[in-house]
Amino acid sequence: MNEIKEWVYSKKNEILEVLRELVEIPSVMGKAEENAPFGTEPKNALLKMCEICEKFGFSVTNYENAIGFAQMGETSDLGILCHLDVVPANGKGWKSNPFDLTEKNGVLYGRGVIDDKGPATAALFAMLCAKELDFPLKKGVRLIFGTNEENGSLDLEIYKKHDKFPKMVFTPDAGFPVINIEKGMMRSNFSGKFEGGSLKSFHGGSIPNAVPDSAVCEIVGVSADKVKAAVKSDKSGAKFAVFEDNGIIKISCEGKAAHASTPKTGINAVTALISLLNRVIENKTLCGLEKIVPFGETNGKSFGLECSDEHGALTLVFSIFDYNENGCSGTIDVRFPCCKNLAFIEETERNTLREIGLCFDGYMGDEPHIVPENSEFIRKLLSVYERVEGEKGYCVTIGGGTYVHNIEGGAAFGVERGDTDYHMHGDNEFITTDELLKDIVLFAETIREICC
Ligand SMILES: [Zn+2]
Repeated sequence: MNEIKEWVYSKKNEILEVLRELVEIPSVMGKAEENAPFGTEPKNALLKMCEICEKFGFSVTNYENAIGFAQMGETSDLGILCHLDVVPANGKGWKSNPFDLTEKNGVLYGRGVIDDKGPATAALFAMLCAKELDFPLKKGVRLIFGTNEENGSLDLEIYKKHDKFPKMVFTPDAGFPVINIEKGMMRSNFSGKFEGGSLKSFHGGSIPNAVPDSAVCEIVGVSADKVKAAVKSDKSGAKFAVFEDNGIIKISCEGKAAHASTPKTGINAVTALISLLNRVIENKTLCGLEKIVPFGETNGKSFGLECSDEHGALTLVFSIFDYNENGCSGTIDVRFPCCKNLAFIEETERNTLREIGLCFDGYMGDEPHIVPENSEFIRKLLSVYERVEGEKGYCVTIGGGTYVHNIEGGAAFGVERGDTDYHMHGDNEFITTDELLKDIVLFAETIREICC
């Protein structure tokens, strides 16, 4: 390992130069163009990466300017899957140019340095290290770089049209140690027609996969005092404001946003407002909704969905709800453990909604993703992690999906460490220079462990 470390630390300037070249391309998804399915800049990032890989002596393949790979060895047994597209950097809090790599006190700032251009650079140099140090490879390595991870991973569909993924694939696009199980996900829509009565309008939430942090509604035929009294005795933790205008009472509710995979950390403004309304007006549908998704409940129990296995429990978030004179519509996000499947969730939701007079309209979703903890691949990743990091390796189950969710045998390995907030997708995204170099050592060791 010392030989690898020495090699990596001697290449520091070259490594930063490659990362700089990638960060300088603002590879945010753009309008599809001929020969640029995800826009010009993601294509430019892909072409730049191909050029760098070729310069380092790897054979390079580019599928439709959507996804490419650099190959070492004849076969491809180990895949490292990274992405070169980034989310926009419109935030006002940036202290440096997000599309210019800035190093300050051992910290690297720039859009993509943690997600996922830094890890892509680390994986590339791990391959170069294996090549220059003449690892006695018995198996081949393929570094795959896509350009649509942030917007639906359609790049992987294009790859699948042309090629097969290696049997073992890891993506350094999440956290250490190893994520081997990703819960299933279903985002479903429902709708219905009902008499609003005192309820004139309701609008809450806008992001399907988040706990909604705001909701507003208008009601009539109720005194403002009655509403204010209900607000006073409310124990949800949400903040309410009540306005009266010409006999119409407007109530706004502020909760706390959270990712749908960790709903306990949020305060759901939609269910909090529905619960408040049920204390001041009479409305059969709102009562039904509160019955099946009560405020504060995140395990789907009242929906008939509660379940768990040794890796975790199902979570449910009522993320969007709208009502106007034409009827209502809403969105439910469910993350479910491996003991259930999409068909079960669909059927249960359909029946529960029907009982309160609403209609299940359809869903998008993915079955759970599992790579056994005792498989050789996972055990090797963990042992490399323990050796290089000097920390206990263990497997993690998550409620979100990573880049390998739909790749058989794929696991996420790196590069976030511990509870550090790297400002991924936010302002001042960073990785420390030491971490970047350590990632290269880790990935080079992984190549040696698995391919030699
Ligand atoms: Zn990513």
